[in-house]
Amino acid sequence: MDKKNYNPQEIELKWQKIWEKKEYFKVKDDSKKPKYYVLEMFPYPSGRIHMGHVRNYSIGDVVARLKTMQGYNVLHPMGWDAFGLPAENAAIKHNVHPAKWTYENIDYMRKELKRLGYSYDWGREIATCHPKYYKWEQLFFLKLWEKGLVYRKKSPVNWCPGCHTVLANEQVEEGLCWRCSSVVEQKELEQWFLKITDYAEELLADLEKLKGGWPEKVLAMQKNWIGKSEGVEIDFQVDGEATKIRVFTTRPDTLFGATFMSMAPEHPLVPALISETNQEKACKEFIEKTKRLDKIVRTSEDLEKEGVFTGRYCINPVTGAKIPIYLANFVLAEYGTGAVMAVPAHDQRDFEFAKKYNLPLKVVIQPKNETLDPSSMTQAYTEQGFLVNSGEFNGLFNEDAKVAIAKYLEEKNLGKRTVNYRLRDWNISRQRYWGAPIPVIYCPKCGLVPVKEEDLPVVLPLDVKTKEDGRSPLPEYKEFVETTCPKCGAKAKRETDTMDTFVESSWYFLRYTSPRKEDAPFDPNSLKYWLPVDQYIGGVEHAILHLLYSRFFVKVLRDLGYIDLDEPFKNLLTQGMVLKDGAKMSKSKGNVVDPDEMIQKYGADTVRLFCLFAAPPEKDMEWSDQGIDGSFRFLNRLWRVIIELLPILSPVGAACKIDKNNLSPKAKKLLFKEHQTIDKVTRDLKGKFQFNTAIAAVMELVNLIYLVKDELKQDEIGAKLLSSALSSVCCLLYPMVPHICEELWQMIGYEEHLAITSWPKADPEALQQDTLTIVIQVNGKLRGKIEVDANISDEEVKAKALEDSNVQKHVQGKTIVKTIVVPKKLVNIVVK
Ligand SMILES: [Zn+2]
Ligand SMILES: [Zn+2]
Repeated sequence: MDKKNYNPQEIELKWQKIWEKKEYFKVKDDSKKPKYYVLEMFPYPSGRIHMGHVRNYSIGDVVARLKTMQGYNVLHPMGWDAFGLPAENAAIKHNVHPAKWTYENIDYMRKELKRLGYSYDWGREIATCHPKYYKWEQLFFLKLWEKGLVYRKKSPVNWCPGCHTVLANEQVEEGLCWRCSSVVEQKELEQWFLKITDYAEELLADLEKLKGGWPEKVLAMQKNWIGKSEGVEIDFQVDGEATKIRVFTTRPDTLFGATFMSMAPEHPLVPALISETNQEKACKEFIEKTKRLDKIVRTSEDLEKEGVFTGRYCINPVTGAKIPIYLANFVLAEYGTGAVMAVPAHDQRDFEFAKKYNLPLKVVIQPKNETLDPSSMTQAYTEQGFLVNSGEFNGLFNEDAKVAIAKYLEEKNLGKRTVNYRLRDWNISRQRYWGAPIPVIYCPKCGLVPVKEEDLPVVLPLDVKTKEDGRSPLPEYKEFVETTCPKCGAKAKRETDTMDTFVESSWYFLRYTSPRKEDAPFDPNSLKYWLPVDQYIGGVEHAILHLLYSRFFVKVLRDLGYIDLDEPFKNLLTQGMVLKDGAKMSKSKGNVVDPDEMIQKYGADTVRLFCLFAAPPEKDMEWSDQGIDGSFRFLNRLWRVIIELLPILSPVGAACKIDKNNLSPKAKKLLFKEHQTIDKVTRDLKGKFQFNTAIAAVMELVNLIYLVKDELKQDEIGAKLLSSALSSVCCLLYPMVPHICEELWQMIGYEEHLAITSWPKADPEALQQDTLTIVIQVNGKLRGKIEVDANISDEEVKAKALEDSNVQKHVQGKTIVKTIVVPKKLVNIVVK
């Protein structure tokens, strides 16, 4: 090979072959070394990897290689989140079977990842669409059912009347079907739920255990999603009837100010309430209209608040006042109780609603230094204050009134204190084909019957034709649907819903510890050895659901006796996005940079280096052509200096012990810089993974090598210093740009590969500096820098500072008023 020029294509393939042949990344459980489990969120096999993947996996690879060098037994696996909607969409578009599409994509993307040189243990690769994987998920479903954590209930789905099919949220585009543009409706279907709400309190409390290891932002998002609120449930009797409407409020202190009731149009009491009133028709129209609104839109602040009077009234339990009942578009059935006591004077949404429909405002909380007048209020008063118009509670501070009124309601049997969560149970039913079948049978005699454990897996049939219109082919596929009841042997039917793909990704990190185990989901010893995941890395877009479901699954599996663990991910890094021209890369914006193309042009090492260097990992990074060019130039510069010095370089080891006495100033400087760089890179890569500053430090070291090489290469000790420093550069950069470093390392003369070499250690003695750089200012302005002995006295520094020629220019002809010395740092000469 022509070694003169850096040829990434050649050396990268060479080293990928060597690493694979030597099985350096194959992991065993029986090591005496401490374990380290680093994991990147596994990709959906969409077809090609994108720059966001490259950034994510490059970060993970640095951690994996670094920890290996630092003496850990590292588990670094990769797999595929392989079920899901895009495969079905592609099936429709390109007339190809989802399985074929998925497996072909996996093959292509695996090649791309291998070309980037990531240190995965490919022997542990998993694809969640494989029956040997989802078999265990079906088993978990049965176990959860036994434990009472699975149930079935009616729940709305997006329904396209044009295609006669259920649509996933992603297939609804601004309220219209993605395929035929029909207006999407909400339709009620029986669906399967996992009772994640049983774990709401623990999921919330255990966030404490993750502090320090997880970004604060993500902890806050999890907390908000669980949404614990403490308040009171109050029953409002319907006027003239025994029926009661229950509300949940966190503001019982405003109860006397409730002047109407807002109900979700889909509240189960509504049909009976509006029946045979003169408002029935208007209400029904309103319900139909609201059904079409997206739920996120319905809860957004800028939604135009709309409602309709039901023609019915209910009784405020403390004032006895008859208040009208409205249906309101901003009230959702699944939040709280689906009914809200409206206090327009003290709640902004209620205020807007009351203004629109001319409903009365009643002030019950007065701020300290002003008097609110309902007729002149322009917005609700939501701050603290003292109670008025509230009977026996008048004069109380509203925080105290919350407690007092709650107690009163409990005593009078009108309500009770309660805790409410925003978190809802997890609907895992998908009316789609490309997913793991839910292992349930419907028997006309026995009802719902679970599939027997020994009959698992319920295999998703692959010999089906997917439907043009997107409907699942399963309900019409007789060989799948028709079966016999495991209990009574009668003819029965299989469930044709499949599981939400979030179920697969909620436990894949556990399966990696024993991915080929056939007789159980996990090998308990492997699980015990590897878990928790020491470092998890992925996009912040998964900060809520995926992490919450994974945490839930681990807690459930713990309670089922599979695992002795409360939390799966000890440390979490959420990397930022890759932007181009200030926007996230996307096909529609036409700003996508294809990793394959960049690898073709610059090599994998340059692409990796740029992704790590452009920004700290948790920040968004901006793709720039000059940036990647700069990374490529740096690697070339490193290559050239080693080629040039090759005749005098020898494998002395990184951070080689060198006596610093009798070294020339340049030699001393290099020795110090080498050890300082090792020290800095080691610190930067620990914990917060500041790759960009670590790389910058190595660049500085390379710059210094360029400055001193011509002098140092003249003698033996200088050659030794250069050998050590360049060896250190190879070690320090290896986790980031492993191919070029292995190649240069081998050229220097090492026989052992970097993949199994130890991380260099800075020598504390070499870090002791015996010269210092002192900054000299005249009247606070920088005028010079001098090198001085580290043990110099203040008086000597002053004298030396004045000898500097540039300083003399600025002092000449003036009077020195005083000289300030900041030891080891700075001299400021004040003149007049
Ligand atoms: Zn449609
Ligand atoms: Zn039966």
